[in-house]
Amino acid sequence: MTQKYNPQEIERKWQKRWAADHIYKVRRDNSRRRFYALTMFPYTSGDLHIGHWYAMAPADTYARFKRMQGYNVLHPMGFDAFGLPAENAAISHGIHPYDWTMGNVNNMRRQLKTMGAIYDWDREVITCLPSYYRWTQWFFLKLYGAGLAYRAKAPVNWCPRCQTVLANEQVIGEGVCERCGTPVTKRELEQWFFRITRYAEKLLDHSRLDWPERIKTMQKNWVGKSEGAEISFPLEDERTKEKQIRVFTTRPDTIFGATFFLLAPEHPLVSQLTKPEHRTEVEEYIAWCRRQAEYERVALGREKTGTFLGSYIINPVNGERVPIWIADYVLPTYGTGAVMAVPAHDERDLEFAKKFKLPVRTVIAPPGWMGEELPEAYAGSGTMVNSGRFNGLSSEQGYEAICCLLEEKGWGKRTVVYRLRDWLISRQRYWGAPIPIIYCDTCGIVPVPEEDLPVLLPPDAEFKPTGESPLKYCQSFVNAICPKCSGTARRETDTMDTFMCSSWYFLRYTSPKARSAPFDATKVRYWLPVDLYSGGAEHAVMHLFYARFFIKALKDMGLVEFDEPFAHLFNQGTMIYRGDKMSKSRGNVIGSDEYVAELGADAVRGYVMFIGPWELGGEWNDRGIVGISRWLNRVWSLVATDYICRVVDAEAEKELLHLAHKTIKEVTVDLEKFRFNTMLSRLMEFSNYLSRIKKSGTVSSSLWREAVGYFLRLLAPAAPHLTEELWNVTEHPYSVHNQSWPEYVEELAKEEEITLVIQVNGRLRDKVLVSASIGEAEAKELALGRERVKAYVGGKTPARIIYAPKRVVNIVVAS
Ligand SMILES: [Zn+2]
Ligand SMILES: [Zn+2]
Repeated sequence: MTQKYNPQEIERKWQKRWAADHIYKVRRDNSRRRFYALTMFPYTSGDLHIGHWYAMAPADTYARFKRMQGYNVLHPMGFDAFGLPAENAAISHGIHPYDWTMGNVNNMRRQLKTMGAIYDWDREVITCLPSYYRWTQWFFLKLYGAGLAYRAKAPVNWCPRCQTVLANEQVIGEGVCERCGTPVTKRELEQWFFRITRYAEKLLDHSRLDWPERIKTMQKNWVGKSEGAEISFPLEDERTKEKQIRVFTTRPDTIFGATFFLLAPEHPLVSQLTKPEHRTEVEEYIAWCRRQAEYERVALGREKTGTFLGSYIINPVNGERVPIWIADYVLPTYGTGAVMAVPAHDERDLEFAKKFKLPVRTVIAPPGWMGEELPEAYAGSGTMVNSGRFNGLSSEQGYEAICCLLEEKGWGKRTVVYRLRDWLISRQRYWGAPIPIIYCDTCGIVPVPEEDLPVLLPPDAEFKPTGESPLKYCQSFVNAICPKCSGTARRETDTMDTFMCSSWYFLRYTSPKARSAPFDATKVRYWLPVDLYSGGAEHAVMHLFYARFFIKALKDMGLVEFDEPFAHLFNQGTMIYRGDKMSKSRGNVIGSDEYVAELGADAVRGYVMFIGPWELGGEWNDRGIVGISRWLNRVWSLVATDYICRVVDAEAEKELLHLAHKTIKEVTVDLEKFRFNTMLSRLMEFSNYLSRIKKSGTVSSSLWREAVGYFLRLLAPAAPHLTEELWNVTEHPYSVHNQSWPEYVEELAKEEEITLVIQVNGRLRDKVLVSASIGEAEAKELALGRERVKAYVGGKTPARIIYAPKRVVNIVVAS
């Protein structure tokens, strides 16, 4: 067997054979423990690039490893297939979104198949097919029935370029569209929302989840829970319709320091509260604010602006008249759109007070305060001062005491507020799952009966960049019959946010062909929750958050029995190319096809794993992949050519056995911890060792065969094709992927220990027990670091250090 390694031929051959034999077909099997290893499914952008391989090949390697360990592994693949790009392609190239998407699906599936992953393609899920989105609509109806979906007129984020509404989560950075970077504006529209805020508290609980800390923190910040008090301030002028204004504060203990009161310029009471002599100025200011983007308004360090309305409000705790101003940094959407300003203890309020020469009154004394004016706003704890009968209390005691007072007098109450807003799911777009709702002039909002699902997308819509859904102009779609009264009615023409499709796809993989339900409940019970979910950290808030909400809602409706979908989350790092994150929008993606064609899928798989720790990412380098390819070639000649035993050396056999078991142990630990790069380094070391043995021929043929057998099984998850071929060439029974993971014997894996003698100028000064595999540099460093040795070396630089392997370190110091 001296044929050359030909990855293209081998890979095609085995992919065909595996498919024909259905070796990766997944079945329920109660005799084995299940393991659900899920990789985030790709968006159907058109081409698979190395960034995709980086997400998928290590994940497949891990799934293969679990499979060899005896788990019944589900590691499925599918496509997130609805969304804007398909529609934009339709507008600019005249291709129907369905054709564009399915063309991409076919291409990406072909590319994925070249990877040689264990995906069971019979379980493929494609979210834009009616057999799938029928159930996305069904879930909408369930949420509607449970009171978790509602319609409301609301100012929404609008991207003028994409011509669509964006969820808050899709507005990023300085208030720009996540997709195209255009500054986002506001619009009033009738929209559908999911009441995700009802789950705010439950979504804060990550205690049972093995997730990266930073993702948990991002989700916590997204929920934005603040505890404090809601306080009603009575208006001085009793002729107004409203008699008071509510504010929320996290620091009720500072209420005696409220020297002015702020409203958002959009607050509904502004006009009523504006005195005639201030009207011109106020109106000009409001017009100016309208031209400011939200992110500019709240930017830290921005010059404060505002204007006085001429009216006053009364501080309930001390009866003081407090002037009412409007300021752009108070947003109508945050809290009540009103703020009790306490400049001594809030930085932005202090900047405002300084700009407009408003009084500043310290009411929380920092430790050691002598009554001087504070140089900056003090937001910490301290002792209450200038606060009437509360003086002398700590701010914590004051917090409680003021809350009690507010509640006793009916001026306010303790409360909790969340930054989280309900999930806006309406999109004025065609390429999404239609919202299954009918509007009837007589009956109002009528949900489409379940038996009428799916509400199909009409194939004949016209695609124009109008900013409204093409469905709106498609009469055959819009005109409907009211399911209640049979009168004429109209269909909802908005479609659902695609995050709705991805909130449940992992359930569908368990029973992708289920026809009478979105999933087979017994199969979901067997497979879920997902044991390991891997994907990019960019999904920290939206996808992962929505999916958690979704599952919690399904649990409350009795549709599933668990309330967290993903027990363990792993975020891989990003693949860098030419100093930048590899992404289609940056135009620096590397296609995978040419590398697969030239060096083979196993080389690409190996290289993306070798590039660095999976969680940190790495930089793509053409020389690097060539290095991996060379190693695979060496593995080929090492195993495919015959071994000739010359003379058996007991020492060599002992050492080989030790190294084999040590490698099994280390590779197993590395894989458990997703350390694919160190796993490959260890296998490289092992193969180098095997090459030396092969040259010397010092172990028996049977031991050689045993060692090679271990090696191939350890490498099989990472390089599935090459190992299958070599397994076959070395006359092992098909398939290497159905073998069990090798087990190590602790006694053999254990490092042999030796006593290292340390001398200074030839005299014994210390002894230390070390691993027999200690290297020269390590031994010298260890010797120099010993306290007893240091005493004899006395801080001098040794003239020489002599190392006798596994025996002595002799440090020579000039006297
Ligand atoms: Zn946009
Ligand atoms: Zn009706």
